[in-house]
Amino acid sequence: MTLALAVPVFGPPAAGKTTLTATLGQMPGRAVFRLREHVPETILAATATSAERLGWIDDFTVVTALRSYIEATVQAGAAHTVFFDNFPGTGAQVRFFLTVLEQHAPGCVVRAVELATDTMTLYRRAFHRRVCHRCERDPIRDPRLPAVPSADDAQRCARCGGILHPRRGDAPRLLRARVQRYQQTAAGICQAFSEADVEVVRLDGGTSAAQVFEDVTALLTRGSTP
Ligand SMILES: [Zn+2]
Repeated sequence: MTLALAVPVFGPPAAGKTTLTATLGQMPGRAVFRLREHVPETILAATATSAERLGWIDDFTVVTALRSYIEATVQAGAAHTVFFDNFPGTGAQVRFFLTVLEQHAPGCVVRAVELATDTMTLYRRAFHRRVCHRCERDPIRDPRLPAVPSADDAQRCARCGGILHPRRGDAPRLLRARVQRYQQTAAGICQAFSEADVEVVRLDGGTSAAQVFEDVTALLTRGSTP
C-alpha cells in the first residue's frame, strides 16, 4: 500500500496526544511514529534528566530518524496512514518533515492536528496520569505510554498488576518547563505549516478521549482520504 496520509499531532504535554495516536494507529494500514523510538539510546539518555534539555534532540538526529522511518515504511508498504505523536516539535522540524515526505512519499496528504487544552486541565491530567515500567520497557527507564489502573487498586496496572508510577517528565518542575517550551514553539510550528499551505486543525483535548477520537475521525474522513 502507498503512504497517502500523514497526520502530525502536536500540542502541550498531557493534552492526550499519545492516547489519541495509539488508538487511531491500532487500525489496519495505520502506524504511529514516535520520535524517541527511533533515536539511539545514548542520545535519549543525554536528554532525559535535565530541565534545560527536556528531551530536546538535535536536528541532525531528528532528520536521520524521520527519514529512515519514512523510507522503511514506504518501502515495506506498511501503512497508508501514519500518525506522528508529538511531532514536529518546532518550525524547523515542520520543514524537514514536509521535505522528507515530498521526497519519499510524493502526493501524500498532510492533515495537521493541534490538540490543545487549558492549562488547568493539563496540570490536573499530568498529576493523575501513570505509566507502567513493566509493560513498557523503555530503553532509558522513562516510560511514556498511559497505563490503565486496575479497577480494584488504582495504584496498580490493570494489565500486569505492577505498581504504577508518575511519568518522569510530569514532575512539577519539568512539567512547568515543558508547558512553557510548548507555548514558545507552537506559533513557529503553526507558521511553518501555514507557509506550506497545510491547514492546522485545532481540537479541544479537554473533552473525553472518545470525543477527541470522534473529532479526528471526522476530520480524516473529510474530503479525499484513502
Ligand atoms: Zn503493567
